[in-house]
Amino acid sequence: MNTFHLSGYPRVGAKRELKFAVEAYWKGAKSEAELQETAAEIRRLNWATQKAAGADLVPVGDFSFYDHVLDLLCTLGGIPSRFGFDAANLTLEQYFQLARGNATQMAMEMTKWFDTNYHFIVPEWSADTSFKVNAKNLIAQIKEAKAQGHDIKPTLVGPITLTYLGKKKEDFGCRIEKILLPKLLPAYAQLLRELAAEGVDWIQIDEPILATDVAQVWLDAFAPVYKELANTGVRIILGTYFAGVAEHVKLLGSLPVHGVHIDCVRAPEQLAVFAEQFPTNKVLSVGLIDGRNVWKANLTQVIDTLEPVKAKFQNNLWIAPSCSLLHSPQDLAVEEKLNGEIKSWMAFAAQKLVELGVVKRALEHGKDSVAAELKASDAAAADRATNKLIHNDAVKARLANLPKGADQRKSPFAERIKAQQAWMNLPILPTTTIGSFPQTTEIRHARAAFKKGELSAADYDAAMKKEIAYCVEVQEKLNIDVPVHGEAERNDMVEYFGEQLQGYCFTQFGWVQSYGSRCVKPPIIFGDVSRPNPMTVYWSTYAQSLTKRPMKGMLTGPVTMFKWSFVRNDIPLSEVAKQIALALNDEVLDLEKAGIKVIQIDEPAIREAMPLKKSQWKEFLDWACESFRLSSTGAEDSTQIHTHMCYSEFNDILDAIASMDADVITIETSRSDMELLTAFGDFKYPNDIGPGVYDIHSPRVPTDAEVEHLLRKAMEVVPVERLWVNPDCGLKTRGWKETLEQLEVMMRVTEKLRAELKK
Ligand code: GLN
Ligand code: ZN
Repeated sequence: MNTFHLSGYPRVGAKRELKFAVEAYWKGAKSEAELQETAAEIRRLNWATQKAAGADLVPVGDFSFYDHVLDLLCTLGGIPSRFGFDAANLTLEQYFQLARGNATQMAMEMTKWFDTNYHFIVPEWSADTSFKVNAKNLIAQIKEAKAQGHDIKPTLVGPITLTYLGKKKEDFGCRIEKILLPKLLPAYAQLLRELAAEGVDWIQIDEPILATDVAQVWLDAFAPVYKELANTGVRIILGTYFAGVAEHVKLLGSLPVHGVHIDCVRAPEQLAVFAEQFPTNKVLSVGLIDGRNVWKANLTQVIDTLEPVKAKFQNNLWIAPSCSLLHSPQDLAVEEKLNGEIKSWMAFAAQKLVELGVVKRALEHGKDSVAAELKASDAAAADRATNKLIHNDAVKARLANLPKGADQRKSPFAERIKAQQAWMNLPILPTTTIGSFPQTTEIRHARAAFKKGELSAADYDAAMKKEIAYCVEVQEKLNIDVPVHGEAERNDMVEYFGEQLQGYCFTQFGWVQSYGSRCVKPPIIFGDVSRPNPMTVYWSTYAQSLTKRPMKGMLTGPVTMFKWSFVRNDIPLSEVAKQIALALNDEVLDLEKAGIKVIQIDEPAIREAMPLKKSQWKEFLDWACESFRLSSTGAEDSTQIHTHMCYSEFNDILDAIASMDADVITIETSRSDMELLTAFGDFKYPNDIGPGVYDIHSPRVPTDAEVEHLLRKAMEVVPVERLWVNPDCGLKTRGWKETLEQLEVMMRVTEKLRAELKK
């Protein structure tokens, strides 16, 4: 038998039942018992769905009220001592306090799980970190699954990855020597022994750091750690995903574990290496069904790929999704409004399980046993290859026939900036903002009412114009040199454009957990992208009509447009990005024609879109930066292109950022005390630069002295004639009151330094 297993399944519920239950519990509207009931029901349904599809081992430990990494920390008793909680008797209330903070303690930090949009709680390591296993909850869930008649395989984040992802709260030396080996490993082994005592046979331990460029000391930890865990009475399958681990095939083959899982969607080439070199007396679990996207697999191809592996590994070939299905939406069946043809190409988590069931049957009983399913899969693939909804010859031709140098502005920056300064007439230290102004409840209500048809188009239009007019008036009063319209009409910076572009579609329930009870519903890029009509010209020109200052138009860049969406997988990502770039370029040129001669193209997602492996960075950055340039190409020298990036560390990619050749870049720097900016200074970033001079993520109004400190630091590293003054990021999550106060400080300090510079 070829075991069909999986490491995780969406846990929020097909209609986000868990989210609503958790939030009701937080508000005191639901009791803990009621919340537990909802949770148990979700687990029951999930396991039943998995079993019905043919899964041999269902995961336990993938369910969580907030985050499974936090759950594991609690199971191991490795929670931060600053909360003063008794790890052995942690209550649900306290669990949520770890995640969300309480009256005296800040929440534990959160960060993105590798290159996904899922945020995990970052372990805190300090000299006094200790562990005390408390497997009560995990064991209860194991019993629960068994009572429902399932064979189980708990899945846990591995000790090396957990140690690596944890953050040192003080300097106590090496995390491997001080945390992993002496403290975490004994606890982890103890946990496995307790699971063995519960009758657990298989356990999956995920070590995704193996797929990143981890330093040798971490690789060296694998042998001693897994030697220790091998003697606990459970059989271990070591999970990897999100990139290839072919370079570690020898190491993996030599570890005393019973098998490995590899992601052959992200790294198809590693299958040949493992098929060739991995010991056949161990389990090789192959992930050929994409756990991170929404498309049906080509089942014939999957089976044809697996058959030779099966011939060699026999029953030691296991099959699974490429990674936990946590990262894909749950069930396509609940979608009622998707175009039927587009829907016929898709598979969400529930459908992916069915696909795996088909693959399993084919491996065991031959392709003929699933002839009907393969016929349907082949038909979907053939339809996708030619369907007119997807394929737009004009878009393909335009991209194929781009002339050489099509991604270059007319003149180099040194000339462009002169042409820009000639009409813009900006003072020294010009001021601007990043785009959005507070998204008040009125704005959101107006948009919701408009969508529901309760507000007429004319009334909606008037409501948005009123907001825009207010924004412009405020900026006039503040004396901001390059104002913005405030983005009131935008629900979300990707969705807003996706809705107006051909090639994008939207689901009703395609939610994916982002953090805690928060879910996002990414748009789906299913086909060639083009822009039938101007998207922002109407609002930007309205805003411009209210002021003599140069109104800044606002677009979302090609990389961010795909990174925060589900993307088609039938053409290379680079092509998708360039198609979006050309659509954006149409908008840039239309804005220019309409008199909007300062245009910002936001790329906040560039850093997180980068491949996990450094060796792949260059290739990615080449086409990503080319895409950005393509979006702004053809603009007159006198048109000023801005870009904005945030939440990012990009010291190591400054040359790529410079190659984007935006006239002005605004970046988030205030939270790191301008640290990043020093790198820009050392690098001698050639174009204009606007480091954020205050943190917009907090309602706190900075003091004049704080803003002055940051601005002076910026003046030390950036030539003053290249320097802009602006907040860190968009203001949409802020309230108006603090926004006005914060911007007043920014302007006051700028005036002060301007006066000083004049002398
Ligand atoms: N222009 C966008 C805004 O101001 C940028 C958002 C972002 O950087 N994430 O909201
Ligand atoms: Zn930002």
